[in-house]
Amino acid sequence: MENKIIRLKKGKEESLMRRHPWVFSGAIASLPEGLEEGETVCVLSAAGDVMGCGHYQIGSIAVRILDFGSETLPADFYARRLRSAFELRKTLGLIRPDNDCFRLVHGEGDFVPGLIVDIYGDTAVVQAHSPGIHFARQQIAAALTELPGAGIRNVYYKSETTLPYKARLDPENEYLAGGFDGNIATENGLQFNIDWMRGQKTGFFVDQRENRMLLQHYAKGRKVLNMFCYTGGFSVYAMRGGALSVDSVDSSAKAASLTDANIELNFPGDPRHRTFATDAFKFLADMESDEYDLIVLDPPAFAKHRNALKNGLLGYRKLNTRAFQKIKSGGILFTFSCSQVVTKEMFRLAVFSAAAQSGRKVRILHQLTQPADHPIDISHPEGEYLKGLVLYVE
Ligand code: SAH
Repeated sequence: MENKIIRLKKGKEESLMRRHPWVFSGAIASLPEGLEEGETVCVLSAAGDVMGCGHYQIGSIAVRILDFGSETLPADFYARRLRSAFELRKTLGLIRPDNDCFRLVHGEGDFVPGLIVDIYGDTAVVQAHSPGIHFARQQIAAALTELPGAGIRNVYYKSETTLPYKARLDPENEYLAGGFDGNIATENGLQFNIDWMRGQKTGFFVDQRENRMLLQHYAKGRKVLNMFCYTGGFSVYAMRGGALSVDSVDSSAKAASLTDANIELNFPGDPRHRTFATDAFKFLADMESDEYDLIVLDPPAFAKHRNALKNGLLGYRKLNTRAFQKIKSGGILFTFSCSQVVTKEMFRLAVFSAAAQSGRKVRILHQLTQPADHPIDISHPEGEYLKGLVLYVE
């Protein structure tokens, strides 16, 4: 079937020429008759040149280009993109007997806007962020199980909360291939129970893998506090790094029990670890000063949208101020923001304000970001979302 054609207004092809994959609704001259959300369309410049084909969606981002320069998607499009994504992960050295958990597809960063795939052993967890990807889910699942060398047997589709609500697609979370056959994944030799069915996102925050390794490096002999612990990733690494004690905090009782299970899996019966199911701000306010000399702050995105930016930045400032006020002298603070709309400059300014407010002398030891299996297409700077600072606090 021929794709419908979307023609751009004059001059609006410029960002596509630079390979930025989004077409904003304001750039479109007119929409073809009967165009349905999620359809694959061909985008032409005002002069009639083929810009590429992509998925149409109602909203400010109207088309996400999947293939530049082509009128229709090649039949093996997903298989090809998956092969190239898998090659990159091999190059990154992420596929090893002691590591079977990584992000295989990071949306625009792997040239498949709208698609996220995380791998946990022989299970792939797929999230669609656009109706076009939702409609292609069976094709994507088939391409995953047929991906040479990847050994993927199960594909779990989890898009109930990621698809635009107004699209009324009512996706169901379900297995598109295989089924449940265990949920323990290995990251850098540590084991984790991954709850993709009930957990947040795809079940685990794969994006903190390298930052957890760095934390392990600093953990020896320190009293560690892991705030917003979720599955306890940072805590397990801190234990391996030789921490004196590790306290994990999350307001969700479910997260607290996941953390307990993951500590038990790796360090059964180890008395160094405690979990607290409580609010992080309250915990920081109530705790004694100088109790901890290594603190991790990895909160959920405080600014999910541009209009929440101001409050989000205030949230980061408040949280970091509390940590600066309480951390022991000579302590190390790992502090993060995963809000896409908060740039690293904004985040650094918020943390600086917190340092100034608390009167502590603070130096930046490391500036952290997302790992290489969450690549950023250089034409699409919006793909950068995770930022972190490791600080030495006197
Ligand atoms: N650091 C984690 C990921 C954190 S996700 C990792 O490496 O995997 C954010 C977590 O913050 C969620 O588990 C959520 O339950 C928790 N959370 C949200 N608001 C909170 C609050 N006010 N106090 C404590 N935890 C909170």
